[in-house]
Amino acid sequence: MFDKILIANRGEIALRILRACKELGISTVAVHSTADADAMHVRLADESVCIGPPPSKDSYLNIPALLAACEITGADAVHPGYGFLSENARFAEILADHNLHFIGPKAEHIRLMGDKIEAKKTAKRLGIPVVPGSDGAVTPDQDAMAIAKGIGFPVLVKAAAGGGGRGMKVAHTEADLQLALTTAANEAKSAFGDASVYLEKYLQKPRHIEIQVLGDGRGGAIHLGERDCSLQRRHQKVWEEGPSPVLDAAARAKIGNTVAKAMQELKYIGVGTVEFLYEDGEFYFIEMNTRIQVEHPVTEMITGIDLVLEQIRIAAGGDLPMTQDAVVINGHSIECRVNAENPVSFRPSPGKIQQYHPPGGLGVRIDSAVYQGYVIPPYYDSLVGKLIVHGKSRVECLMRLRRALDEMVVDGIETTLPLFRALVREPAIIDGDYHIHWLEQYLAGQKTD
Ligand code: ADP
Repeated sequence: MFDKILIANRGEIALRILRACKELGISTVAVHSTADADAMHVRLADESVCIGPPPSKDSYLNIPALLAACEITGADAVHPGYGFLSENARFAEILADHNLHFIGPKAEHIRLMGDKIEAKKTAKRLGIPVVPGSDGAVTPDQDAMAIAKGIGFPVLVKAAAGGGGRGMKVAHTEADLQLALTTAANEAKSAFGDASVYLEKYLQKPRHIEIQVLGDGRGGAIHLGERDCSLQRRHQKVWEEGPSPVLDAAARAKIGNTVAKAMQELKYIGVGTVEFLYEDGEFYFIEMNTRIQVEHPVTEMITGIDLVLEQIRIAAGGDLPMTQDAVVINGHSIECRVNAENPVSFRPSPGKIQQYHPPGGLGVRIDSAVYQGYVIPPYYDSLVGKLIVHGKSRVECLMRLRRALDEMVVDGIETTLPLFRALVREPAIIDGDYHIHWLEQYLAGQKTD
């Protein structure tokens, strides 16, 4: 096992990793920018190192500064969390070159899944169903039009290096294709430094359903069921739940086993998520994330497995915590991502938290790094915290979420709590009857069907 882990992240995920380390008896090193000197992860870690000024590129993305922090503190492994360097294959290789463990998959798998065109080809080869689309990158000339016509409109132009919904444009008709191709390529070029784009059938009312996997790197892999992340705004998840209101045990086992088998063949190591769109009973692979995800607590609540702890154990050479047969899905869980944003305009609302009262009680979990008097800096994402609720049934879970949301107080800044209080009372949400465009239509005040 590792002796000392450096946590190359901030906010709630840094705290989440710290908790797992403490339970494993591993020493912790927090790193922080000058803007985060008062952050909770810094206070709770055994040691801390300032790695630079506020902008992420100068601090949390600053590889030389992170290496120096490992050297100074004698850390033997680095946990990247999510975002920042978590899916940077080069970072994993650099760490290895310095005899440091990267707590994540092999660099080759990060690279493979980071290129969405290659990822899709690999998925197809491994027997995972994919969205119909171009076989590779397309260029904005005749070949793109011919391919789009073959797929059938509407089509979605997606960036090969995509992430966070950037570099994605819909072309509803032939007349829209040219513009969609150039805007997506330009956006991809400026966001990822890679202008390659590809085409996919644009699904009209799918759900976003993802499978959590755990691999031991030696050909063993299990799946831990699904999370339904269909409630999204601008392709960003807002509310996640598990199990999905539309999957039964047989459907779960079928897709779960397909994914687990693929991971066994890849000899995948650590935690990973294989994301699908789901429409009319069919699954379509869109991408794989080779890291711990924001919404991982949903799976923890319904399986009882500590994913971050297992991720660390497996990175240190440990075995899978259990066999597939021993994985039991218990009850229902919902996570709300509470952001420091205006609940209507979604404008970021950084600033000082004057009053803070997190809800509690049976089946209620808060993953957050804020406290009363904490100042949310304007430089990073706007997550205040994740409210995660568990119940024996979906109905119990919804009632518990309703009361937990009503109890929660975050004053001094604007948050998206009012949006969640409204959503938990919406008939379509209560019925579990929503798809990936539902929330945007709801926010636009349109009638949804
Ligand atoms: P990113 O890496 O940018 O997050 P994804 O491929 O994971 O991109 O897609 C993010 C979201 O975009 C999905 O959850 C879904 O809402 C939407 N999306 C992606 N592909 C399609 C598609 N073919 N049809 C309709 N919506 C899609």
